[in-house]
Parts: sequence; structure tokens; C-alpha cells
Amino acid sequence: MDELQGKVALVTGASRGIGQAAAEALAQAGAAVVLAARDGAAAAKVAEGIAASGGKAAGFACDVANYEDVTRLIAATRERFGRLDILVNNAGVIQPIGPLWEADPKDWAKNIEINLTGAYYGVRAVLPGMLAAGGGTIINVSSGAAHRPLEGWSAYCSGKAGLAMLTRAIALETKDRGIRIFGFSPGTVDTEMQVKIRASGINPISKIPRAELQPVTRPAKAIVYLCTKAADDLIGEEASMRDDAFVKRVGM
Ligand code: NAP
Repeated sequence: MDELQGKVALVTGASRGIGQAAAEALAQAGAAVVLAARDGAAAAKVAEGIAASGGKAAGFACDVANYEDVTRLIAATRERFGRLDILVNNAGVIQPIGPLWEADPKDWAKNIEINLTGAYYGVRAVLPGMLAAGGGTIINVSSGAAHRPLEGWSAYCSGKAGLAMLTRAIALETKDRGIRIFGFSPGTVDTEMQVKIRASGINPISKIPRAELQPVTRPAKAIVYLCTKAADDLIGEEASMRDDAFVKRVGM
């Protein structure tokens, strides 16, 4: 896929799971990739693996809930690779899991700080440069939980619902200015987040057997697809791995 040759992508939450697979797939497609996670050593290790396979990658520590961290990360990306074309706002947490009247208010607020405010911080920090450059792609990793309440996940559902609205607000404000913004719902995917979910046993999602979960390579392939012109008609929308027509378009 030549379209991503020479492009630079930043993926948050790329030390494992969907973010790692997305970073690997973007590098495979020819983009230079910056991987970020709070555990910078883990992100750097994934980046080393990409570089060992011939890709261009660097890993950095960044807590997306800290705006200064985010602006430093974006400056480091531009310094290292000279530009920034793609932001994948993937970092996310599920906790606190449990009845909302029992959750620690600090943990509840932290979830929103990471899943919603953290994504906003990324967008806020990259957009001036993208607008000045005449364009860019932003993918906000959403969830079915953005549109469906689930027992024990009040923070997660609220944050992802807010993120889905943020995607629409960005689409409205950047209309006709070259910004390709998407929400992306990855389906139910076999990651560490699902280990925590299964351990809780709190709602129907937690009862899904591991064997029925999707491999991380599927949403990763879809994220690469959204970075290409073929997805232009979906700008401003939320693409979902639960939508058979979308999955077919991606070629799966
Ligand atoms: P995961 O395996 O738990 O990975 C989460 C990643 O986010 C890790 O790299 C983690 O690294 C990073 N992260 C967490 N908090 C962060 C913070 N404050 N700053 C920077 N990085 C942070 O989860 P996943 O399943 O791959 O989930 C990825 C995204 O997909 C999330 O947005 C999630 O809500 C969404 N999603 C997942 C599923 C699913 O079935 N797995 C379904 C729908 C949506 P550190 O802990 O080192 O920071």
C-alpha cells in the first residue's frame, strides 16, 4: 500500500493490544510510527520489534491524561520524523468496573481523563499543525459501549459516548479543511482489557468466551484502511467492526 509511504503516524496506547497491532500494521504499510504508552519501555520494545522488521518506529512514555506529556510527545514525533500525518487516539482503560455507587470517584474521573480528555488533548495538540499543513487523519478508537449502556461500566460508557460526540464536533469544526476524522469501534478483541472484563463477570460482555474474541490484527487492518483515500466517504462517521459492509470493504 504505497499511499502511506512517507507518512508519519502516532498511536497512543501502543505498548500492547489493538494499539500495538495498529502500529505494526501502519509500519507494514510504509508509515513511520511513533508508539506511546505510560510504560515507555514497553512502547520502545514494540518499536524495536518494528524496526527489526525493517520499519521506522520510535517508542515514548506519555500519559495521555497529562496535556504537557501529550504536547511533548507530539513535538518529539515531529522532531524525530519531521511531520505528523496520522493520530490514532487508542489509549484507553476499562476500570473502574463495578456499580457506580461503589466506584472510587477518583477512579471514575480518571477513566474520563484518559478515555475522553486524553483523546481531546491529542486532537488539541495535533490540529494546529495539521491545519497549517493542509490536512491529516485522526482516528478516535470508540466502542460499542459509546452507544449502549452496560452494567458496571458507567465511566467507560460515558467516556466513550463523549468521545463519539467529540469526533462529530471535530468533523463539524474542521469541515473542508483537509482533516479526515473517524470514530472506530474495534469489535470485541482479544486483549488485556478483555482479561480484566472477563475477570469481573459483571455484564454480558464479560461472559463472552475468549475463543469468540477477534484477533488484534483485524481492527489493525481496518485502522490502516481508514488512513487511506478509500475511506474518504466515511469521514466524520464511526466505522464499526460490527458492520459487515465495513468489514467487507476493508477486505476481510
Ligand atoms: P489494552 O490491551 O488494555 O491496552 C491499552 C493500551 O493503552 C496500553 O498500551 C496501555 O499502556 C495504554 N494506556 C492506558 N492508559 C493510558 C494513558 N493514560 N496514557 C497512555 N497510554 C495509556 O486495551 P485494548 O483492548 O488494546 O484497547 C485499546 C482501545 O480499544 C481502547 O481505547 C479500548 O477502549 C478500545 N476498545 C477495546 C475493545 C476490546 O474488546 N479489546 C473493544 C472496544 C474498544 P500503559 O498502561 O503502559 O499506559
